[in-house]
Amino acid sequence: MKGRRDRTIWPGAAGALVLLVLLTLAPARSRAADTDAAKDRPVIAAAAEALGGLDRVRAVRNITLIGYGMWAYQFGGGNVTASPVAVQRYLAANDLRRVYDLEHDRFQQAERRDMLFTFARAAPTLWQPFNLVLDGDVAFDVSPEGKAHRVQRWDASAWYVDGVHMRRMWMLNNPVALVRAALDPSTSLSAVRSEAGIQGPQQVFDVTLRQGDKFTLALSASTHLPAWIRWNNPHNTFGEFTFTTYLEGYEPYQGLLLPTSYNTKTDWRNISELQIAVDGYQIDGPIPDLEASAAVRAMPDVPQASPVTVTKIADHIWYLAGGPVTDNRAAPQGSTVYEFADHLVIFELNSKLMAKAIIDTAKTLVPGKVPTMLITSHAHTDHIDGIRVAVAEGLAVIARRENELIIHDMTSHLAPDFPDALSQHPMPLKFIPVDEHLRLSDSMMTVDVYWARTNSHMADGLFAYAPAQKVLSDADVAFAARDYQPWADNYMDDIEYYKLDVREVLPIHFPPMTQQQTIDFIKAGVQGLRERCARQQTLEVPIPGCPVLTHRY
Ligand SMILES: [Zn+2]
Ligand SMILES: [Zn+2]
Repeated sequence: MKGRRDRTIWPGAAGALVLLVLLTLAPARSRAADTDAAKDRPVIAAAAEALGGLDRVRAVRNITLIGYGMWAYQFGGGNVTASPVAVQRYLAANDLRRVYDLEHDRFQQAERRDMLFTFARAAPTLWQPFNLVLDGDVAFDVSPEGKAHRVQRWDASAWYVDGVHMRRMWMLNNPVALVRAALDPSTSLSAVRSEAGIQGPQQVFDVTLRQGDKFTLALSASTHLPAWIRWNNPHNTFGEFTFTTYLEGYEPYQGLLLPTSYNTKTDWRNISELQIAVDGYQIDGPIPDLEASAAVRAMPDVPQASPVTVTKIADHIWYLAGGPVTDNRAAPQGSTVYEFADHLVIFELNSKLMAKAIIDTAKTLVPGKVPTMLITSHAHTDHIDGIRVAVAEGLAVIARRENELIIHDMTSHLAPDFPDALSQHPMPLKFIPVDEHLRLSDSMMTVDVYWARTNSHMADGLFAYAPAQKVLSDADVAFAARDYQPWADNYMDDIEYYKLDVREVLPIHFPPMTQQQTIDFIKAGVQGLRERCARQQTLEVPIPGCPVLTHRY
C-alpha cells in the first residue's frame, strides 16, 4: 500500500537524483505516520509484536502461502439432498498458492479445483485451474492461456461469491496483511470489546478500510495473535452471508508467526466454505506481476444481461431464454412459462440477475395474466438462484417436500448490509410441496409435476410435463451437461414409469430439443464418461462416477 501511494504522489519526478531523494524521503514520512497509528492502537501493535515485531511486520514486501484446500460445493447447498445432515460434497483445491503482495496492495488466489463427487461436466473434474487476482480495486481472472478477464465488483453467482470485497477479505485472511491494514492510519477502528473465544477471551474490533470495506477482527487476549476475521457479502439465494475465517496453528516462518490452518465458515449451518491447510510460506520471494493491465481496467465490472428471448413452443407454452454475458462462469438460462386460465406458472428461475427480467417478460405474454407460481426443480444454487426475487414478487414456490427447509432458510435469511428485493419487500414463503406427483390443471392447461426418481445427482428433483402439448421441462435429468451422463437411465426410466409421450424437451442448461435429440444427447454423455473412465483406469487414478451405471445404453 505504501509503495502504491508513493508512486501516485510522485509521478512526475524528473531526473535520477530528484527521484532518489524523493524515494528515500517518502517511506520515512509514511513510517512516521504508521508509528503514530501504532501508538494510538496498542492492542493492534501488540498483535504485530506477537507476529514477529512491528518492524518485521512492516518490512515484509510479500508473502506466498503454499498449501492445499477444500471448498464446500455450492456453499453446502449442492448435495444430493438439502437435509442438514446429508453427505457434504466437496471440491479439492490442490497446487494452491496465495500471494499477498503487500508492497503493491495486490493479491493472487491460484489453485486447481477438482470435484470429489460424481458430476456431469468434464472441466470441474479435471483439476480446473483458477487464477484470481486483485489489484487495488480491480478484480480479474487470468486464464491458463494468459488471457485476463475482469470480474464483477460484486459477484454472488451460484457457485462462489466473488468480487473486489471478497478478494480483499481473502487477502486480509493473512494475519500480516490484516494487522498492517489495521495499523494503516486511514483505517478506522471501533473501540475494543471483549468476547469469549474457544481458547479464552478475545479482543474484538469493527474495522472500516479507507476503500469502505467493513469487517470484524478478533485477537487472542493472551497470545495477541489474530484469531479470526469476519465479514459479510451479498449472496444470491440467502441474500447475504457472514463469513468467518479462523486462523489456527501458528508456526514460525522467517521471523514471522503465521497460521497453518485457515477455516472459513458461513453463518448458514456453520458450513466450512473453504478450508486451507498450509505446507509452507515464502517471505519476500519472487512473485508474479499482479498488476491489472490497462485493457483489464477498461472492461466493465458490473453484470451485463442479455435480453430475454421468447420462443413459443406450443399452445400456452413459451421458452424464455437469456443470461448474464459478463460472467464467464455462468450457465445459460432457459425458463418455461405455462399459461393457465387466469394465471401463469414458471418452471425454474436459475439466475438472480435474470429472474426479474424473466418474470417481467412473462407478464407481457398474455394481457392480464401474471405468474403466480414457480416450480423449482431442485435446490442446487444454479437452479434456485432467483428464489428471493420470486418470493418478493409474490410467487408461490412448488418444490419437493424435502426442499422446504432449505427454501425457507434461503427466503428468511436477513440481508441488512446488502438489501435485495426480498429484504426491501419482505414476503412470507408460500410453499407447495410435491411428493411423487402434483397435477396443476384448469380449463386451459394441465401440467404434471413429477419427482425425478432414481437420480443420483438430486434425490429431490422435479420435472414438469404438459400432456396435451407433450412438452417436458427438464433440469439436470437428461440435461445436466453434454460431457458425462452418470445418471443416464434416469430420463427414460421416468418417461416409462410415468407413461409419458414426449415430443419436445425444454432444458434449463441447453436449447429446446426433440425426444430423439434428447436420447442422442444422453448417449453421447454415456460415451464420454465411458472414455473418461477407461482413461482413469489406465492412469490407475479412480474417480467418482466410474464405472458407468446404465442398463439402457
Ligand atoms: Zn443440480
Ligand atoms: Zn443444473
